[in-house]
Amino acid sequence: MDMDKRILQIMDILKKEFPNFQTLLNYKNDFELSACVALSAQTTDASVNKATPELFRRWPTPAALAAARQSEVEEVIHSLGFFRQKAKNLIAASRMLVEKYGGKVPWEMDELTALPGIGRKSANVIRGHLWNLPGIIVDTHFGRVCRRLELTAQTDPVKVEMELMRLIPEERQHEFSMTANFHGRKYCMSRKPNCADCPLAELCPSRIHRTSKKPI
Ligand code: SF4
Repeated sequence: MDMDKRILQIMDILKKEFPNFQTLLNYKNDFELSACVALSAQTTDASVNKATPELFRRWPTPAALAAARQSEVEEVIHSLGFFRQKAKNLIAASRMLVEKYGGKVPWEMDELTALPGIGRKSANVIRGHLWNLPGIIVDTHFGRVCRRLELTAQTDPVKVEMELMRLIPEERQHEFSMTANFHGRKYCMSRKPNCADCPLAELCPSRIHRTSKKPI
């Protein structure tokens, strides 16, 4: 089967398996999503969702958070890893939002990645969810699934992103990023992928390796 046909089938199966491909982070507006995404580095979405109701209750806008005392923000998010750096970044990013963008989150990649705490992965999450802009969101789950499906051999996240951007049609890049991520969590886990129940098994070269006892 040629690559384009295989990718199309993979995308369709994943979309059917995960029709609701929204982020698991709870947010009400652009400011909240950008803060949640920045907080989610090196921790789980569930942990972020536990901390943010109090964070947004006390500092509901970029202007409020820009004026917050760092020690107080640290206290509210202390259950998350790297809470000192994250508190510092949240306050600095909020100041930038207020001073440069009138309190709104910008949509340009360069502007987003200039915000403290926001890298390319986070920027693509924000762009995709808020404005449905094309972009490939590369995290550990996504990279692993794409390598096992032999859509890329790269391990560097930026190289994975660039290769997948060439393979996946723009209008489906956000959908594919999210559904492949969910697939990695549900079936294609790092240590013990559940190939027996995997809906992509027929299209997966690593599944064939596995049945012939070669390592994935
Ligand atoms: S068949 Fe196995 S290795 Fe391939 S995508 Fe499914 S779970 Fe992952």
